[in-house]
Amino acid sequence: MKILSSPEAAYQESLRWKQTGNVALVPTMGALHEGHLALVRMAKQLASRVIVSIFVNPLQFGPNEDFNRYPRAFEEDCRKLKDEGVDLLFAPTATEFYPEGFSTRVSVSALAEHLCGRSRPGHFEGVATVCLKLFQSTAVDFAVFGEKDFQQLRVLEQMVTDLNLPLKVVPHPIVREADGLAMSSRNRYLSADERAWAGLIPKALKAAQVRAQTLKDLTAGELIKLVRNDLSAAPLRIEYCEIASEKDLVPQRAESPLESMIRPRLLLAVKNGTTRLIDNLSLLKEGA
Ligand code: AMP
Repeated sequence: MKILSSPEAAYQESLRWKQTGNVALVPTMGALHEGHLALVRMAKQLASRVIVSIFVNPLQFGPNEDFNRYPRAFEEDCRKLKDEGVDLLFAPTATEFYPEGFSTRVSVSALAEHLCGRSRPGHFEGVATVCLKLFQSTAVDFAVFGEKDFQQLRVLEQMVTDLNLPLKVVPHPIVREADGLAMSSRNRYLSADERAWAGLIPKALKAAQVRAQTLKDLTAGELIKLVRNDLSAAPLRIEYCEIASEKDLVPQRAESPLESMIRPRLLLAVKNGTTRLIDNLSLLKEGA
């Protein structure tokens, strides 16, 4: 596995590979877990060469967020990626990616407005900007993103469409721990009690999915109330809990009947102690 930090060098390597096959990219912020590795395996199915990027992107963290304490585990990550047969680890430094004078921002308006966009102003601008730079630095045919960050996935799909970028965004389902908790680099922040409480989140989502499928005339507001009630047994602070169509991610009004919605998805963010956790589930299909 090659390790490169220079965008120019990564671009040249990728161009060379593209002469004989496809190239897929898995962008990450490192501290890799099985969720990330599942994306890598999907990338390997899609293309003959796989690039993984590791970059803790300062642009997507707010001033009071966890940029400084975000977990970093470079050596361990390298070992994991080597074992997966990754061809290139692209790990730019912040000064290489954002040299002095860097002043461009990519803004994907409507999809980034609600949900996480509301509580993390500027976050999706940071995500879209870094992903465009990653795509430009690797010239890939496919980029794999997890549904764990569902709004991010939709924002990036929109950016790729709007800017005619010559690559396909490929979604990967959420990879979960044995008790259903969505895997996340941030889970390692959780104390034993917080980890136990976090297990309520996937249970509440799953219960909501079952209710949505069995109680036919349920409204969005009624279902959200049930989810909030399920979570009230734990000291979790709900930042948002919304039902939105996967298409536009606009939260539904409380009185909207679920049956009238196109591809409804339940999305939530909670604070568990000082750790922010997000999760989501399709209200339509099993295991989504
Ligand atoms: P991150 O390192 O947290 O920025 O995540 C890098 C990529 O891995 C993003 O596309 C995430 O959506 C994806 N990802 C992270 N955790 C999971 C998970 N549990 N299941 C599926 N994809 C994930």
